[in-house]
Amino acid sequence: MMRGLMQEWPLVVTSVIDHAAQWHGEREMVTRTVEGPIHRTNYAELHLRARKFAQALQRLGVGKGEVVGTMAWNGFRHFEAWYAIMGIGAVCHTLNPRLFAEQLVYIINHAEDRVVLLDTTFVPILEAISDQLPNVKAYVLLTDRENMPETKLPNSLCYEDLVEAEDGNFSWVAVDERDACGLCYTSGTTGNPKGVVYSHRSNVIHGLAAAGADAIGARSTDNILPVVPMFHANAWALVFAAPMAGAKMVMPGAKLDGESIYELLDSEKVSITAAVPTVWLMLLQYLEKSGAKLPHLNRVVIGGSAVPRVMLETFERDYDVEVVHAWGMTELSPVGTLASFKSGMEDLSFDQQMDVKVKQGRPIYTVEMKITDDDGNELLHDGEAFGHLMVRGPAIASAYLKGEGGKVLDDDGWFDTGDVATLDPLGFMQITDRAKDVIKSGGEWISSIEIENLAVGHPKVAEAAVIGVAHPKWDERPLLIVLPAEGEKPTKEEILEFMEDKIAKWWMPDDVTFVDEIPHTATGKIQKLALRKQFEGYELPTAK
Ligand code: AMP
Repeated sequence: MMRGLMQEWPLVVTSVIDHAAQWHGEREMVTRTVEGPIHRTNYAELHLRARKFAQALQRLGVGKGEVVGTMAWNGFRHFEAWYAIMGIGAVCHTLNPRLFAEQLVYIINHAEDRVVLLDTTFVPILEAISDQLPNVKAYVLLTDRENMPETKLPNSLCYEDLVEAEDGNFSWVAVDERDACGLCYTSGTTGNPKGVVYSHRSNVIHGLAAAGADAIGARSTDNILPVVPMFHANAWALVFAAPMAGAKMVMPGAKLDGESIYELLDSEKVSITAAVPTVWLMLLQYLEKSGAKLPHLNRVVIGGSAVPRVMLETFERDYDVEVVHAWGMTELSPVGTLASFKSGMEDLSFDQQMDVKVKQGRPIYTVEMKITDDDGNELLHDGEAFGHLMVRGPAIASAYLKGEGGKVLDDDGWFDTGDVATLDPLGFMQITDRAKDVIKSGGEWISSIEIENLAVGHPKVAEAAVIGVAHPKWDERPLLIVLPAEGEKPTKEEILEFMEDKIAKWWMPDDVTFVDEIPHTATGKIQKLALRKQFEGYELPTAK
């Protein structure tokens, strides 16, 4: 057997910041701080300060393999802290501030966070629960002395004081590339949240794969604005992919409204940005109202929920911005697929191109993918058959922290995403639904996502959700729940008329109902479970 004679070069995330500092040291990171002012730094400074904070963490007694929580917006201190935590061989546990208090208590205790870092905006959240967090030895506020708030948090420390006290003369702690470096809990719509544990190796491999030209397409000349928070599924790999490429990063802090995001897109000449559809809805509303344009922006990556076709069309036609629809999940580090064109698709008509882009796209290298029926048989890639979406790869979870949820892979190592999807002959995957949300009508499946996306195309509709409601003849039939656009009063008839002929007749909702609010999960997805509860026992007109 002949062995390869290449060097053993461990795939550790600190190599990413080392590379960025050495070869792109002058490239900027621009942050809208939670205190308000815009702050500017660069990779060389970030690298030095990350090492200083690594020294500070060690001084606080954080050891290899221990867990440090962060509850923070996207900003330079949060970025430094990630690399500092991972650089001492500890595990960075991102805390989603939108979780309920009892979920936060559960995950901080379950993960055994030793130290928690937080933006000053989150002081009240942690003050309310700190007496239930016996393992947390210290709270580090990500701010300077001047902006330190009064707080009841036990052992609260100031980040800048800690950094200033160190000299940065520090070598990253040696780790095995398979050691844990990151931890992110799934939002857990049923049962307790489960911890997804990233390794150095998985983050490096995933960062490389996600940076690729057909994926995020990060280059050193790019200015990248991750609106997607670092506490949401590894910030879609951007915390690794952008410094790998030497791209400038623009961090939006706490302000994610349309006007604030527009300001940064414009003033920092952002070329690539990424977020969930609701963020882009706010931006598009702002642009429409203000008449502003997006001359610098080349590409917007949208995922987390399906992109409504009208959103796609507006970006592409009215603002000349390329939309890249993406699908992923926390367990996938998180990017799985992106809908970038294949050869020849550039020549399709606009409408045909949009047909491609409403799909969630094709797998990036390192993601294996198939769809199966209930018995595990593989289904055809004909764009019609839909089944359980199964994945496999080096940056895909093999288990949850402490074995929660039991065995998650089948005997061949496939992970069931819980999504239902089609695959077409060119490899483009389209999500039909979460398996739990699919509507089963007379033994056939109806995609709630497709009806929702059609409904939001109506100008009087702000948001739409479709759930299955019990029906005496068909088991379940779709109920369309509509949040009207501001100041609008749409009727059931005009919405159904708008949808007619755009979907199969038997997919048409049996009823339309109007609400003042649609509930969302901590990661901004429509909370179908809550809606199903809310509309339990709802009597459809067709059921009489
Ligand atoms: P999370 O782990 O919180 O990121 O949630 C992952 C889930 O979000 C996936 O399993 C999908 O159900 C859903 N999801 C993510 N991206 C998309 C998308 N582009 N279209 C439809 N659903 C999506």
